[in-house]
Amino acid sequence: MGDWPKLSRGDTLVLATHNAGKLAEFRDLLKDFGLAITSAGELGLPEPEETGTTFVENARLKAHAAAKATGQIALSDDSGISVDALEGAPGVYTADWAGIPRDFGRAMQKVEDELQKRGATAPSERRAAFNATFCLAHPDGRDVIFTGVAPGTLVWPPRGENGHGYDPMFLPDGQTRTFGEMSAEEKHSWAPGKPGLSHRARAFAKFVEDIL
Ligand code: IMP
Repeated sequence: MGDWPKLSRGDTLVLATHNAGKLAEFRDLLKDFGLAITSAGELGLPEPEETGTTFVENARLKAHAAAKATGQIALSDDSGISVDALEGAPGVYTADWAGIPRDFGRAMQKVEDELQKRGATAPSERRAAFNATFCLAHPDGRDVIFTGVAPGTLVWPPRGENGHGYDPMFLPDGQTRTFGEMSAEEKHSWAPGKPGLSHRARAFAKFVEDIL
């Protein structure tokens, strides 16, 4: 961790996101730590272009942009789903597959169409993983990275109305319900030593251990 300072109750943390779904998850995860939380979206900061080719590069771009613009410590999350049979796609381009304006029904259909083209119908041929890469950036230029992975299988048709993005087609390993069928609590509940199911909860567990 080098000389990265711990965050304490009352400190301000800017969440470097314009994504309402992610923001809601972060607010949930951070609710017991007494931080003053705001977000790039709420502050009306411009959304930096995600020009990186890796989750780490994009997480850094977003966190440093928000830290620089506000003079506060900022936390970003670059995440996505990587499908084995699609050579890791959509990966860092997960949000782009939903087009503009974002339509995740269409994005899930696109993933399914690509799987069908490859004849990937058995669960073993439909393996995927959600990745979350956090960057915590200081306005002085320092940063630190935390990652979390949730492995699972893609189902069709999508199931459940909860969550966001690709949740309804993602069945996490060891579970009988998709992320879309789970409550927010089940999806990313977090407790010391018990990081929960989601990629974000798993990255968050490491963040808590080192920073809070
Ligand atoms: P980005 O990190 O803003 O580039 O976007 C990542 C994309 O991955 C989002 O648009 C989400 O739809 C998708 N994604 C990330 N995490 C989750 C999740 O927990 N459930 C469903 N979709 C997710």
